[in-house]
Formats: sequence, C-alpha cells, structure tokens
Amino acid sequence: MSLVVGITGGIGSGKSAVTRKFEDRGITVVDADIAARVVVEPGRPALAAIANHFGADILLADGSLDRAALRQRVFSNDAERSWLEQLTHPLIGQEIVDQLEAVTSPYAIFASPLLLETSQRELVELVAVVDVPEDVQLERTMARDDNDEGQVKRIMAAQMKRAERLEMADIVIDNSGSLERLESVVEALHVQFLARAELGT
Ligand code: ADP
Repeated sequence: MSLVVGITGGIGSGKSAVTRKFEDRGITVVDADIAARVVVEPGRPALAAIANHFGADILLADGSLDRAALRQRVFSNDAERSWLEQLTHPLIGQEIVDQLEAVTSPYAIFASPLLLETSQRELVELVAVVDVPEDVQLERTMARDDNDEGQVKRIMAAQMKRAERLEMADIVIDNSGSLERLESVVEALHVQFLARAELGT
C-alpha cells in the first residue's frame, strides 16, 4: 500500500463519522480497535495464552474472551496489565500491518485513537486529526454514550491534549460544523489523497 492516511482524534471528535465517509467512497479503513479484538478471537494463539495465564474462567461459555472479566483482572494490577500488553501489542501491530498490506483501494485509511501515542504513527504517511472544540466533544459523546459529564471529562482528561494533538497533525479535519459540511471536507480530502496515491508520493 503506497499511501496510508492515519485518522485520529479524541473521544467523540467524529473519527467514526469521518471513516464512514471514506468507506462510502470505496476506501478501505483499517481500524486499530477492530484489530485489537481480532487477535483475541477464538482460535487465535493469544486467546489460548490468556486462558492459560488467567484460567479458563476468563472465557465465556461459547469460548470467546470475557472482556469484562479480563478488564477486571488487569484494572488495578500493573504486572498483569503489562503481561497482557506484552502479549497482545506485537500481535495487534502485526494484524494492522497484515490488513494494510491486503488493501486494494487506491489508498488506505488507518483509524486509531492511539495513533499519536504509540509506534502506530510509523505506519502512516500522513496524520489527519479530527478536531472539535472540547465543549462539542463533551456534548456529542454524552449524547452518543449516555454517559454523565464526569465520566466523559475523565476520559478526555486521560487522552492527549487537544493542542498537542493538533501540533502533530499534517491535516486537521474540522468537524465542528454539520455532517453535510463534513461530507464536503472528506470529499476534498479524498480527491487530494487519490491524486497523491497516483503520484506515488
Ligand atoms: P469518535 O469515533 O471520534 O468517538 P463519532 O464519530 O462516534 O466519534 O462521533 C461522536 C458522536 O457525534 C456520534 O454520535 C456522531 O454521530 C456524532 N457526530 C459526529 N460528527 C457530527 C457532526 N458533524 N454533527 C453532528 N453530530 C456529529
């Protein structure tokens, strides 16, 4: 894949709204959150290792991972969390690389909430940050997740600061307007990415 564009942004900034619009245009979107789920699917070696380490009660009756139970086990245990991350992070990285290599659309989108916090940054030629003011971010996330203000504010506080994220952006996708406005922003970027992919730069 010659051109991979990374899409990131804080919770509720509109990453999914943006990636959906690229998908509508036939562009394949590789999603880091999906890759993280794929590597622990039944039949994958990571799931067997997790069941071996934490015990079979970390699995649900159908043999899939009990995510809530796993979260509970690593929540306040740094050693267990670190064990889990050392197992899964390289596998997630490989899964993302494999999925990007299989892309046949003219360019690829790689969506990740942790693009700028991790070595995932190295997988992309361009970083596009979806950006909205914090009050809009709070309002849209609360409406989507039915979470209270305190919960959303805690998540926002744990994420990279808006200014820091913007500083690392090659492209800023302003999503403070309507979804129609976003549509035309994505269309313009799509045309630009197609041209760039064709030039092979
Ligand atoms: P993220 O994936 O970054 O967490 P989403 O794409 O899920 O964010 O957007 C958060 C919420 O805001 C969703 O409910 C989405 O439908 C809504 N939303 C996104 N962009 C807009 C917009 N431009 N106008 C109104 N609502 C929006």
